[in-house]
Amino acid sequence: MAHIPTSRGGTPWKASVLTLFPEMFPGPLGVSLVGQALKAGLWALDLHQIRDFGIGRHRAVDDTPAGGGAGMVMRADVLAAAIDHAREADDLPLLYMSPRGAPLTQARARALSEGPGVMILAGRFEGVDERLIAARGVTEVSIGDYVLSGGELAAMVLIDACVRLIPGVLGAEESLAQESFEDELLEYPQYTKPRTWEGLSTPEVLMSGDHQKIAAWRRAEAERLTRERRPDLWAAREKQR
Ligand code: SAM
Repeated sequence: MAHIPTSRGGTPWKASVLTLFPEMFPGPLGVSLVGQALKAGLWALDLHQIRDFGIGRHRAVDDTPAGGGAGMVMRADVLAAAIDHAREADDLPLLYMSPRGAPLTQARARALSEGPGVMILAGRFEGVDERLIAARGVTEVSIGDYVLSGGELAAMVLIDACVRLIPGVLGAEESLAQESFEDELLEYPQYTKPRTWEGLSTPEVLMSGDHQKIAAWRRAEAERLTRERRPDLWAAREKQR
């Protein structure tokens, strides 16, 4: 059997997703490098249909909000049954994709990619009954300050960000080291052929063949872009030094 490089010695990194729409998966996670890695067994995807744990003939998973108001809330008892069932197969950190959560960062994706995997609850409606979050030790994670219709796309974003960091998923490991957010900097500008296009030239230094000069130019550009575009990142970086 081929050796599968994984972060936990033989067992592939796993994403276990609890959702009302398992048919959305693997979706974009099934194509390109991440999809090839899935087929090659470098990571695994498990899907759990929350409705299988629903109540009554109609398998209800939601109910009206306590205190009144618009929309529906996912029931704690239904979600707990789904989570407890999924946990029989896998003991993974449990995340709930939520606009209220801690922001998904490259550092968080890296930390998760170095573990055994993730179990992700994808919310729908107005979200989940608050009691579930404490009772099952759920960590809330947000992919940004906007509201999606459901947690599935957010789960895919998190899974993609983690999977591409698993050793062997991307071809050139070097390309990871120099990406945006590594070393708290945005990436420097990239160029390719042709050397001149619509009157615009590739910076001379990149054609010099002088690797030290090229590295210094890239570093300076990464710092300039970070200062200009993400003063928040720049300030946090300066504070750490
Ligand atoms: N009522 C919730 C609020 O105002 O915070 C929004 C619920 S949203 C319509 C339905 C589900 O989409 C959420 O339970 C969550 O799982 C997911 N979701 C929406 N926006 C998200 C975001 N920015 N990051 C992660 N998950 C998100």
